Order: sequence, then structure tokens, then C-alpha cells
Amino acid sequence: MDHTTPVIDAPKRKTILLAEHSGFCHGVQKAVDKTLAAGESSEKPVYVLGQLIHNQQVIDHLDAKSIRTVNSLDEVPEGSVCVIRTHGAPPQIVAEAEAKGVEVSDATCPDVRLVQNKAIQLAEEGYTVVIVGKDEHPEVIGIKAHSDLVGGATIVAINKVNEIQEKLKDIPKRRIGVVSQTTQMEENFFEMVKALSKVAKELKVFNTICPATYFRQNSALDLAGKVEFMVVVGGKNSSNTTHLAEICRGEGTPTIHIETYKELEDCEALQNANIIGVTAGASTPDWLIQEVVDYIQSL
Ligand code: SF4
Repeated sequence: MDHTTPVIDAPKRKTILLAEHSGFCHGVQKAVDKTLAAGESSEKPVYVLGQLIHNQQVIDHLDAKSIRTVNSLDEVPEGSVCVIRTHGAPPQIVAEAEAKGVEVSDATCPDVRLVQNKAIQLAEEGYTVVIVGKDEHPEVIGIKAHSDLVGGATIVAINKVNEIQEKLKDIPKRRIGVVSQTTQMEENFFEMVKALSKVAKELKVFNTICPATYFRQNSALDLAGKVEFMVVVGGKNSSNTTHLAEICRGEGTPTIHIETYKELEDCEALQNANIIGVTAGASTPDWLIQEVVDYIQSL
């Protein structure tokens, strides 16, 4: 949702400003469209391995269309379609699915694919690969698994500067190559690069934060400086949405992170504010954002 006219004047006393860039990014939109199309056109049952995107309401919507989200390939029967989520998947999983007679529909975002390829390149060039991101995030698991296939490669995920020493304790540090989880906070990425430059003799860096994340973070920051209260809409398990809320709070603006408008019902800070900013993560559909705007307008 890229807004050209971001201002909505509520009929009563509240003014709502929408972030210039918020909501579904191109990668998420394509993945959702592709999955829904598979559900409509395929005669085979369709499964998604892990949450297609980090938004429970969208997962529920897919479920209502009989597109099931499963946690393991063991739950995907032979003869069905298995969608690979936007965050990608380890290549071994894809090979395993095909070997058991499952049709793979790959909805990996092209921006995630780019990180996988950059990590492979760094591993092939002999760098110790540092992924700036969380070990347990599905995108990071996929990136690691891809670059792990390069013989002798060392790959480690580090999310914060204070983890560097421990995580690189027994790992070669002379030549370090860096990529970022696509939804990483820019500021954190730059701090990590600075800190890694102090431990490596040679540092090669690919800033792989995706443009959609960059634009959403910058417009959230810009908006937070103009309003009394920020509402950030999106999955509580969505990295990019959580980062938007952190950015707004970092700007000193009171902020609430919600999944649906219902969480605003007891929000006193919202009741007391006159100018309210609304933004949403890249995995938040327009209809959820609209429900939030409608609710605030109704106050
Ligand atoms: S947030 Fe970025 S990497 Fe993730 S799906 Fe959207 S465009 Fe792709």
C-alpha cells in the first residue's frame, strides 16, 4: 500500500496520518496471490510449509480456503502441492519434497533469493559468512542452509553487537563477509558492520535489507516525528512489523503494536491523542489497516 495522499481527516476531532509506505510489499503480495491461485486452480490439495507470511489473519484466510499451513514436510501427503513461504526454505527440504512426489510451488521472495545468492558467493570466496539476523528466523535458516552447501563454509547468524564475541569465539575471523536478513533494522545493521570491522582483517559487506523494509522503516520514522501517538499494525511474530514499532518508540513517540483493531478498544493513550499515525508491516493486508483506520475514525 503506497499512499500518494496520506492524510485522512476524521469527521470528529482526531486526525489520522498514514505512513507513505506501509502494508503488503511486492514479495508478500505475489506469494499470497500465487498461493490463492494454486488453491483455486489445482486439483491437488495445497499445503504451505510454515507460515506463508507472519500474519495470523492471512493464515486464517488461507485456511478458510482449505489451504493448510503445516510445520513439517511429514504432514504434506504425496500427490499434493507444497508452497515454499516468502522466507525461503533449505534446499534439502525442497529436494525431499520432490523425492516424495510432492509438487513444489516456490513463493520465496526474490529479495530473499538475492541474500541466499550473496551468502553463497561469500562462502565460495572463502569468507566466514555473518548473517545479521536471528538464528531461529526461517529466512536465516534458509540462507544458512543454502550457503552451508559450499564445502568448508562457516556461516553464523548474529543479531546484536553484544553477541559478536561469543558467536565468533572459535570461528575464523580474518576474512568476514556480511549479509543481512532482509527485514533487519538499518541502524542495527550499520552498528554490526562497524563492530565487525574491528575484529576482521578483511570485511566484505552486502547490505541486503530489502527496499520494501527500508521504505517502511523510513516512512514510519518520518511519521512518528509528526504525530502524538503511533499505531503499528501487523503480526506480533513479524520481524519487520516489530522493528517498525521499535523505530517509532525510539523516536520518543508513544506507540502500540497491534494485530487487529480490537486491541485498541482499551487504549487510553489513543483516546487522549488528537493526531495519530498509522503504519503496518510488509505482511499486513490492506483490509486489516482499513479496519484500524475505521475504528479510530469512529472514536
Ligand atoms: S519484506 Fe522484503 S524480503 Fe520480505 S517479502 Fe517483502 S520484499 Fe520480500
